[in-house]
Amino acid sequence: MNEVKSHNFLEEIIEEDLKAGKYQSIVTRFPPEPNGYLHIGHATSICLNFGLTARYGGYTNLRFDDTNPVTEETEFVDSIKADIKWLGFEWKYELYASDYFATLYEYAHILINKGLAYVDDLTSEEIAQLKGTPVDPGKDSPFRDRSIDENCRLFEKMKDGEYPDGSKTLRAKIDMKHPNMLMRDPLLYRIKHAHHHRTGDAWCIYPMYDFAHGQSDSIEQITHSICTLEFIPHRELYDWLIEKLEIYPSHQYEFARRNLSYTVMSKRKLMQLVNDGYVNGWDDPRMPTISGMRRRGFTPASIRNFCERIGIAKRENIIDFSLLEFFLREDLNNTALRVMAVLDPVKLIITNYEDEKTEELTCENGPDEAYGTRQISFCKELWIEREDFMEEPAKKWFRLAPGASVRLKSAYIVRCDNFQKDENGNLETIYCTYFPETRSGLDNGTMKVKGTIHWVSVEHAIKAEVRMYDRLFKVENPSSEDGDFKDYINPDSLQILNAFIEPSLKKAAVVDRYQFLRKGYFCLDEKSTSENLVFNRTVTLKDAWAKEVKR
Ligand code: ATP
Ligand code: MG
Repeated sequence: MNEVKSHNFLEEIIEEDLKAGKYQSIVTRFPPEPNGYLHIGHATSICLNFGLTARYGGYTNLRFDDTNPVTEETEFVDSIKADIKWLGFEWKYELYASDYFATLYEYAHILINKGLAYVDDLTSEEIAQLKGTPVDPGKDSPFRDRSIDENCRLFEKMKDGEYPDGSKTLRAKIDMKHPNMLMRDPLLYRIKHAHHHRTGDAWCIYPMYDFAHGQSDSIEQITHSICTLEFIPHRELYDWLIEKLEIYPSHQYEFARRNLSYTVMSKRKLMQLVNDGYVNGWDDPRMPTISGMRRRGFTPASIRNFCERIGIAKRENIIDFSLLEFFLREDLNNTALRVMAVLDPVKLIITNYEDEKTEELTCENGPDEAYGTRQISFCKELWIEREDFMEEPAKKWFRLAPGASVRLKSAYIVRCDNFQKDENGNLETIYCTYFPETRSGLDNGTMKVKGTIHWVSVEHAIKAEVRMYDRLFKVENPSSEDGDFKDYINPDSLQILNAFIEPSLKKAAVVDRYQFLRKGYFCLDEKSTSENLVFNRTVTLKDAWAKEVKR
């Protein structure tokens, strides 16, 4: 990875603005619509907006774009705030576009009084019919030339609830032949007799996105209003409205939305996964939501590093999911405590070890000495991984096999003498001899082995449920495939194992991060209880998918 941070195009624009004395400091905003949980795409926008003001001075607002009364809920507002804080950012003001409804209503009157807006009685179908196409000009509505007085009166009546939904709209009077379709008398207000999560039943007319967003930016004196590329055609209208209203000139800038392979990122699609039961809620650890990733064990630093170091682009692209995992491993490798857990256990009995004996062996806790050591109990009967034994060993097999020796991590070298299978032919017990002089730390190096495996003591280990996650989709870009994106769900994205883990993990807290030696990075699940310990695999130690491609 390139450690030297290069400038992105927004930083260049801002530096020029500051140098030219256009602004003393900058103001940005993060404007989520509270109609779902935040995902990793939003994290990109959050890191960008908050990162810019941290770098150049100024502040960032959190503004809920809650102009659509039907879809928004308080649950989403709360989760959005929690997610931004968890990512490590602090907004200056918590604001709601709905707080500006009265101001926006006055702005609408300003346009009407300037002859720049009119009340239209056409239905939405009729409006669409007259709109034209990118190559054909549109046609004027028969209501376009109403007098200013009539428009004022009708707009007030719209507000007073005298008309049913859809019967009238307020439109800007621009140009039905404009080459930019969005400039062909765009809708500013529609009638919707609906309850709003904050304003209740105070309003039955609601501003459209284009008549709320730029105006909210202007009210808050946002200097750099950053949005994704699909809003490029909206910029002309954004500027037109600010100019005609003669309000603070915020400016809109666009960057490419973040797309990640093997997942979907629209709230609408994520909502379907939740509602149709493909995942267990918005915070399912397989979801690309911030809450899902948090539960999975992602750290805020890993997400911030990903967003900052991948940067932003002016053109759409798909970033490989493994790049996100790269930043996650990078962070976890430096911080995770090393512990032993056996995920698919098989019993190993040391025949020459005393029956009742327990030894306390010293084990290192972390990636370096600063993390200290802990004692773990060693006994005659141990659990080891089933996959660490091969009855007929392959070439270069350095783990257990009949007659082969291996080191038990932080303990002794053992040699396999025998093994036993159950009635179904499954391996049940491995019998070994241990060599007392090979104890870790005391070993004089006379006996050499190439493999080291992890283990836990049968008597001391505790049981835990371990959830192994894989990608949620089988294909890179489920949204671009034929048919429904849900047809491409990976049926094996969750595997539940009954594991034996070392007793120190009884004290695990949700914020702790662990490396289960040789098995990957894990964390305690938020819903784990002391009766039913649950650990989530955050990520494997290496990129298993990369290997598969090479094979
Ligand atoms: P979705 O399609 O997932 O619902 P949205 O754009 O409708 O996304 P908003 O709540 O309106 O979601 O977005 C809040 C902010 O986050 C906007 O400024 C938007 O541009 C940005 N954003 C949303 N998705 C992405 C993404 N994938 N990459 C970068 N920024 C994003
Ligand atoms: Mg949106």
